[in-house]
Amino acid sequence: MTTSRPFLGETTDREKAFPDIESLELNVVQDPYEQYARQAWQREGRYTKANIPRHLACLNPRCQQGGLDLQQAVLFSSPGQHSYYCNGHEGTPKGRHKGDPCDNRFDVTLTIVRRPVGER
Ligand SMILES: [Zn+2]
Repeated sequence: MTTSRPFLGETTDREKAFPDIESLELNVVQDPYEQYARQAWQREGRYTKANIPRHLACLNPRCQQGGLDLQQAVLFSSPGQHSYYCNGHEGTPKGRHKGDPCDNRFDVTLTIVRRPVGER
């Protein structure tokens, strides 16, 4: 583990972070109004249980404290499509001054295969 943040419960082990999930696939597209990224590929991410990061950075270069918590998105969402607004703001670093809310949005498509109860 290099620069990734720990998962919930301070673990960097995905087996512990997602104990009842056999496999997952998460596709995310952000910047739906094409305001922040120049290239389409920069807006898209595709993750599985093997490589999902805890946190997805917001593409808005002025955004502070934003982004999307991917672990929460997996643990507290049902499979399917969801839209999450960035909860960052365009203020100063460390949030001393709150600016305008970040306009970015994350459209997530989530597929989850859960383990049978007896194997958790
Ligand atoms: Zn943002």
